[in-house]
Amino acid sequence: SGAPPTPSPRQVPVGVDPNRPSIARIYDGFLGGKDHYEVDRTVMTKINQAVPEAVDIAKGNRGFLNRACRFLAGQTGIEQYLDCGSGLPTAENTHQIVQRSNSDARVVYVDNDPVVLAHGRALLEENENVHMVEADIFTPSAVLKNDIVVKHIDFSQPVVLLHVGTLHHFEGDGGPAVMQEYIDALAPGSYVVFSHFYDPEVPELTQLAKRIEEILVHGPMGAGRFRTKDEIVAMLPGLEIIKPNATTAPGLVACDEWWPDGPRLTPLSKAAHCIAGIVARKP
Ligand code: SAM
Repeated sequence: SGAPPTPSPRQVPVGVDPNRPSIARIYDGFLGGKDHYEVDRTVMTKINQAVPEAVDIAKGNRGFLNRACRFLAGQTGIEQYLDCGSGLPTAENTHQIVQRSNSDARVVYVDNDPVVLAHGRALLEENENVHMVEADIFTPSAVLKNDIVVKHIDFSQPVVLLHVGTLHHFEGDGGPAVMQEYIDALAPGSYVVFSHFYDPEVPELTQLAKRIEEILVHGPMGAGRFRTKDEIVAMLPGLEIIKPNATTAPGLVACDEWWPDGPRLTPLSKAAHCIAGIVARKP
């Protein structure tokens, strides 16, 4: 398929385990990146066999992230972005989008995947308004009190907090508490960009979601939950959800339906309905 073989240990960045699948590498692989190893491709193949259109989940998610960044940078004037679980820089990245509107915009990326950290640091070396932090995004205090975060993000002023495609990798019922801690730290007028694997509670789509969840949760990564509308909205306590397109009342929609760039010429695939996006404001 043109993908590189699993590299010899000498070629693997420090701290990277090529024998354990990585969420970041698999997601990046679905977006067309090349930094995946044999062990990642095994998971990707399993997902593709179970749900051939699964790639639409990754693409829908990334498209939503890009449009939400463009919208917020263009309309809110907010200059500081905290991007939690930022992923590999294969696709167009938050800083490239928001700095197009405002070259002074500051972006702090947070991730814990060694491949992401290595790429991120290399890419960002030339941009003084962009920083990469290694921290566990599911321990909010570790992010919010991190020296680099504290130095570059002023929490007394509005911030854009991104948790895009992250909380579905968090097991258990603690998601709302994790997000509450982040939201408590934000000044009024801040925004949260959020997406999550979505179970639309329509039997056919629930089945599709379960097929992917089975591979992710019971596979070697041990994480990847599809949650319902109520479970997802509960992760954004106290926030006002922004109207997600011209025709839908404020709430949650499939990522592809969040203010699309134009009319849809072909219908969304079933899988595309199984990733939900929200942009919300702290009053
Ligand atoms: N936010 C990007 C996007 O939506 O395009 C990337 C999403 S990717 C599916 C999830 C990212 O979260 C990966 O880069 C992964 O390494 C990171 N991640 C997962 N668990 C994490 C943790 N506990 N701490 C920090 N990063 C984590």
